[in-house]
This record gives sequence, C-alpha cells and structure tokens, in this order.
Amino acid sequence: MKFHVLTLFPDMIMQGTNTSILGRAMEKGLISVEAVNIRDYTKDKHNKVDDYPYGGGAGMLMQAQPVYDAYLAVTGGNATLTEPNCEDMSMQTTERKKTRVIYVTPQGRTFNQQTAKEFAMEDDLVILCGHYEGIDERVLEEIVTDEVSIGDYVLTGGELPAMVMIDAISRLVPGVLNNTDSANTESFEDDLLEYPQYSRPETWNGKSVPAILLSGDHAKVDAWRLEQAKERTRIKRPDLYEKYLANH
Ligand code: SAM
Repeated sequence: MKFHVLTLFPDMIMQGTNTSILGRAMEKGLISVEAVNIRDYTKDKHNKVDDYPYGGGAGMLMQAQPVYDAYLAVTGGNATLTEPNCEDMSMQTTERKKTRVIYVTPQGRTFNQQTAKEFAMEDDLVILCGHYEGIDERVLEEIVTDEVSIGDYVLTGGELPAMVMIDAISRLVPGVLNNTDSANTESFEDDLLEYPQYSRPETWNGKSVPAILLSGDHAKVDAWRLEQAKERTRIKRPDLYEKYLANH
C-alpha cells in the first residue's frame, strides 16, 4: 500500500508515521508514505500558495494551481499508480482502476473501520490535506474522488486526519500487525467492542484477573469474551449494539 500525501507540512506527515508499527511496516516494504510538499509546485514568484477568498470572508484559501500541479506530479494525470498484478492483458488496458484521491475535510463522510477496510483494498491512495480556510473549489472538483472527515469538529489542517487514516488503514494491510487475530477480534469487528483484557500480575491493587481466563479452557474463554463484548457494547455503544442485534 502506497500513501501519497499532498500537504504544506510534509515533515509533520513523515514524523507522525515513521515510528513503531508503521515505521517497521515501512522498513519491511509493506507500506510506503510519500509526503509531497504542495509549495514546491507553486508558480508564484514569492512561493505563495494561498490567497484571499473572492466575495470576502475570514482567512486565506489554498490556491488551485499548486495543488493541481502537485497532484499531476504524483499521478501523472491520474493513471493507475501501481501496475495491476494481472496476467490478463485486456484488464491491464481497459479495467484499470482510477487512483482514489481523498480530500480530508470536515464536510466529508465520516471515517470509520468500514471505510478503513474499503481503502485498504487499494494499491495507492492520494490524500490531499487542506489548511487555512480550505482549498479553491475548482481544483477539488477536478481531482477529488472521495471526501472524508474524521469527525464533526474543525482542525487547523488535514495532516492529523491524514495520519489517522494512514494508521487505521495500514494496520489492515497483511503483515503489518504481527498477529492477524488482533485485527479480527478488535472493536467494530462484527459490530461489537472488544472484550476487557488483562495481563500479569494475576492480582494488582487488590483486583484479580477473572478466574475463567486462568482456566485454560479455550471454549469457555471464548464464550466469556463474547458475552463481555456484547455487554460492554450494549452499555457503551447502544447504537452499535442495535446493529449487532439486527445482524445476528
Ligand atoms: N473552512 C472549512 C469548513 O468550514 O468546512 C474548514 C477548513 S479547516 C480550518 C482546514 C483544513 O483542515 C481543511 O481543508 C481540511 O483539510 C482539514 N480538516 C479540518 N477539520 C477536519 C476534519 N474534521 N476532518 C478532516 N479534515 C479536516
């Protein structure tokens, strides 16, 4: 999976993604993150990338030209970035997927585990980060295939949302997590939150680990975990629990 992030703050993206699990995934070549500095593509002699919005109003707007040229530099005009691994030549010429260009914006559909799974199926993702008051609408109309929000609040820029998405999507790429079970049993799988978990010591601060987890009986442990997952979903996320009940 290759992430291409169009941003005015490339250092923020690289520093935020190259440690721990994602850092190791990059070293292994399972994912790559390329942060493209939109400012490198401005044709303004003072290196400007923003200007006042027509019609007045607060703040500055990112201009269309540098964003478009950065996009062209990355995609070559939106050809598929990665050759499909396919023997059928007709597929290579006629059925290539258009690379998805995601604009992170509070106006988009809300990102969740399902969206992460959907994006994890792609070979390449271009993520466009806005700043200031956003981006000139005309370039968004030209290049964006998806608009995604990370929640109903307004941030100063799209870099944190881009990193949130890269993190959530990357851990679904095969091999990134050491243990695939951990992704399969985690919250939001099967419309449930994950069951409570405990590690050593057996007793801490006067509290003991539930005895069933020490029993060695895997079937009983699984049944207990499912009950716990259902109960905490019912209490913490009744909306999700309704979905679970509807599907089971
Ligand atoms: N004027 C815009 C509006 O009201 O819809 C908000 C612009 S915001 C200050 C600047 C940039 O931050 C946006 O272009 C977007 O890329 C990013 N951003 C802010 N909040 C976000 C959110 N909740 N989800 C995704 N991106 C967000």
